[in-house]
Amino acid sequence: MNFYLKPDSESQSFMILPEPSIISADEALNRLLEGNQRFAANKTIGPNRGESRRLEITKGQQPYAIILGCVDSRVPPELIFDQGLGDLFVIRSAGQVIDDAILGSIEFGVAELGIPLIIVLGHTRCGAVTTTFEIVGKNLSVEGAIGTLVETIKPAVDQAKGHGEESIDQAARKNVALEINRLKASPVLSEAIKAGNTKIVGAFYDLSAGLVEIMALK
Ligand SMILES: [Zn+2]
Repeated sequence: MNFYLKPDSESQSFMILPEPSIISADEALNRLLEGNQRFAANKTIGPNRGESRRLEITKGQQPYAIILGCVDSRVPPELIFDQGLGDLFVIRSAGQVIDDAILGSIEFGVAELGIPLIIVLGHTRCGAVTTTFEIVGKNLSVEGAIGTLVETIKPAVDQAKGHGEESIDQAARKNVALEINRLKASPVLSEAIKAGNTKIVGAFYDLSAGLVEIMALK
């Protein structure tokens, strides 16, 4: 472990400070969006995937962005952003739902690795959101851990209006916004944001266009 500890004079406890990152959040975002433009235009270069990169990063990793995305097989971050080994710190769950393990992993990426950018990546036609929509609409109950997923996505579905594919995408966008709120409620992440060490951005991927849109969130 490589935590940078500094006494916090107010509470006499210790705060975790990240290592200075190589690039800024804005540079990281540009790099991702450029890669996505290449992907959508069918002009990928598949960077950082060869043997030399694999050997180079045995010394240590310095990924420049955390991607919290959906498990959907059609939305693999390294491919849709045209990135390679050691570039992205990827965490995925159905509907990119956040639990303690996921939150802890994101905090680790920020506090331990000093990653300057967190992307919460939703997408069109999300199966997890669609299922939640159906279950809520028909007032069905779900057993097992899938029930936890549905319960977590339900507030976003409740906020979406209307029916059909458009409202499912609307709920998926609301879900991203609620997930960002959950991340910002983390003391570790909110401290890092306040200190200018990391930034959280909402994004939405269109399956058919192959493009990632940055969401304007309050
Ligand atoms: Zn999904």
